[in-house]
Amino acid sequence: MSTIAFIGLGHMGGPMAANLVKAGHRVAGFDLAPAALTAASAAGVELAASAAGAAATADVVITMLPAGRHVLAAYGTADEPGLLAAARPGTLFIDSSTIAVDEARAAAAAAVAAGHRALDAPVSGGVVGAENGTLAFMVGGEDTDFAEALPLLEGMGRRIVHCGGTGLGQAAKVCNNMILGISQIAVSEAFVIGERLGLSHQVLFDVASNASGQCWALTTNCPVPGPVPTSPANNDYRPGFAGVLMAKDLSLAEQAIRLTGVNAQLGLQSSRIFAEFADGPGADQDFSGIINSIRAASEERGRG
Ligand code: NAD
Repeated sequence: MSTIAFIGLGHMGGPMAANLVKAGHRVAGFDLAPAALTAASAAGVELAASAAGAAATADVVITMLPAGRHVLAAYGTADEPGLLAAARPGTLFIDSSTIAVDEARAAAAAAVAAGHRALDAPVSGGVVGAENGTLAFMVGGEDTDFAEALPLLEGMGRRIVHCGGTGLGQAAKVCNNMILGISQIAVSEAFVIGERLGLSHQVLFDVASNASGQCWALTTNCPVPGPVPTSPANNDYRPGFAGVLMAKDLSLAEQAIRLTGVNAQLGLQSSRIFAEFADGPGADQDFSGIINSIRAASEERGRG
């Protein structure tokens, strides 16, 4: 049993902390939102008066915050000390937020400079995975720290992959989600082209799902209703994985593209397409709803 400080008890962090309690750990939690604190307390998380207060007696500090700037601010700076200054020397910091690779590396470097150890451990699997303890973790950091974290992560997830050194958990996540974003656009464009050529959705699905066009965006998250009854398209495009979250992940992909200098034109284009979608219907729709934006833009073009 470990004592864990859990900072950020929102949609993901709340149920993750609850699963650590179920696994027998002592969890001291903190969040800025009173509603998140109430829900976590009901699940057996001890409430700390501050993030630093939670970290002061912890063996492990887990952060599950919206973005990189929140993680870096919570870790603290020389002027505004935070979790790193409050924790006991050698504490293991695990950041499970989805943040940019260079932010993850900066956060880990700050932790190490303060005498601690750090892993980046972003997740996939969404709120359902967080609630059911079936998240996938992609972990970057030292072997020994990964080995220490593994039993804890197993309390919250099912598939836990050590991707390599610091930042490589975030690198794996951003590369995977860039493939996903691009392929969801490709599948959606193909269905709209097929419609205009007179091809039925079912026939295109039957051909492509058994041919080289086969991919998750087609066979699980099919953007038209019918061929895959469980896809969000059959449920008014309710998420699922919301368009705003895909837009956020693709903005991180864009940062990785700039960091590496790769000529990743589809990555950049998909980021632009999903940013526009997230400003409109994608704010509360599954990202496969992008097909409706493609269809609408095609109609406008036809009229133009
Ligand atoms: P959320 O907004 O529901 O939760 C974030 C929580 O952090 C909020 O409750 C907020 O009050 C709290 N917070 C912000 N700043 C804080 C601070 N300084 N101290 C303490 N608490 C603070 O977001 P979420 O959906 O739980 O996502 C968290 C992270 O997980 C994000 O990086 C997101 O990209 C990633 N993620 C989300 C999903 C998903 O389906 N929601 C899936 C995979 C990954």
